[in-house]
Amino acid sequence: MKFISTRGQTPALGFSDAVATGLAPDGGLFLPETLPDFSRDLGRYAALSYPELCFEFLRGFATDIPPAALKAIVGASYTRFADPAVAPLKSLGKNLYVLELFHGPTLAFKDFALQLLGNLYAHQCRERKETINVLGATSGDTGAAAIYGLLGKPGTAIFILYPDGRVSPLQERQMVCTGEENVFALAVDGTFDDAQNALKEIFGDQGFRTQHRLSAVNSINIARVLAQCVYYLYAWLRLPVAEQANVEFVVPTGNFGNVLAGWLLQQMGVPIRGFKVATNQNDILYRLFTTGEYRVDAVRPSLAPSMDIQVASNFERFLYYSVGRDPARVREVMATFKQHGSYTFENFNRATFSASRCTDAEVPGIIQRIHRSHGYIVDPHTACAFKEISPDRVSVVLATASPAKFPETIKAAIGIEPTHPALEALKTRPIVKHRIKADPAKIRAFIETHSV
Ligand SMILES: *Cc1c(COP(=O)(O)O)cnc(C)c1O
Repeated sequence: MKFISTRGQTPALGFSDAVATGLAPDGGLFLPETLPDFSRDLGRYAALSYPELCFEFLRGFATDIPPAALKAIVGASYTRFADPAVAPLKSLGKNLYVLELFHGPTLAFKDFALQLLGNLYAHQCRERKETINVLGATSGDTGAAAIYGLLGKPGTAIFILYPDGRVSPLQERQMVCTGEENVFALAVDGTFDDAQNALKEIFGDQGFRTQHRLSAVNSINIARVLAQCVYYLYAWLRLPVAEQANVEFVVPTGNFGNVLAGWLLQQMGVPIRGFKVATNQNDILYRLFTTGEYRVDAVRPSLAPSMDIQVASNFERFLYYSVGRDPARVREVMATFKQHGSYTFENFNRATFSASRCTDAEVPGIIQRIHRSHGYIVDPHTACAFKEISPDRVSVVLATASPAKFPETIKAAIGIEPTHPALEALKTRPIVKHRIKADPAKIRAFIETHSV
């Protein structure tokens, strides 16, 4: 399988090269050249375990990795999930399910993609007899998930910049208490934007980037999207047959990576009725799907911080299909959007999508309601998805984080402080963090001395 750029000005690449490249050189995002049709395979997939299903799904895309090697990579990626089902589907009552995506090592759904991506990187290092230095900036979940994807992997080092004092104490502990020598958590003196800008400058230095074989952690890697298709398929296969075609997946949405994966799976012949894009108060996608206008707004920090986005970086992939797979149209829309901060779509095709928006003021009440009516505790991201549940369909709500990651919000809502043994264990471990100025020269020097 070849992978093409949404902007059409990058030659098609094989899977491994598309994964290693991340963002296409023309500024676009990679997509498979064609989408396979899985509709005839669904019957034989029903009995597979999570890693078996993941392998069967990915082998049609990762065609440049020998099947035995791919099977080992996938197998290793889901061993550190605490639930034997990996992604358990739980019924909360008639027509209502939650798909728990928080049993991985960092207790958020990003582990599904980043455990796999870490193993793909490690495989590439072995194959090419090279080392790799992964670099990213985080304001929350992504940094920890990326770190746990590469923890202790030979030939790799990971450098994660985060704004000192501005991530939650538990999130910080996940990054600074790993005890592994290939992990460097850099506490930047400044805001997330300062960290992000320093990073951009470092990546802009092509010589440095090549010399240290730097690779970026971000939400647009095609391997992340494909890894996320698998849990939608896994959940769909576990629904009663009579409910399968009437299911709407309700997805707490930030950068549109998660819900895009579900939509792509639907395009591959899995009969899913629809998707609900559930945003927090940073509602650019809610506005798009209800009015057809895509317009940037200032970010307002919320109780669901991993959904605090200004623009949805994965939206461009959906756009590519929406404009009839025409890269020239994608370039035109993205250029207009960049110039004016908005784009209005005529006849925006929102078939199969519904949308909801949830403000901070509404989150505690939703957590209370779900706890009272179902005896179930949801984290603030998942709470946003419970804002509106369509009564005429079967809803599968994606639970993207463990409530134990947000003890203060939960305690304020229902008086119970959720805990998790993995987080408790971190509290007794030594902290290794490196304080650094948000100065690209200082950060470059740090990487120079610690890179592999
Ligand atoms: C990243 C994240 C989201 C948003 O996912 P997108 O793919 O950016 O839409 C939602 N919930 C949690 C807990 C997250 O970490």
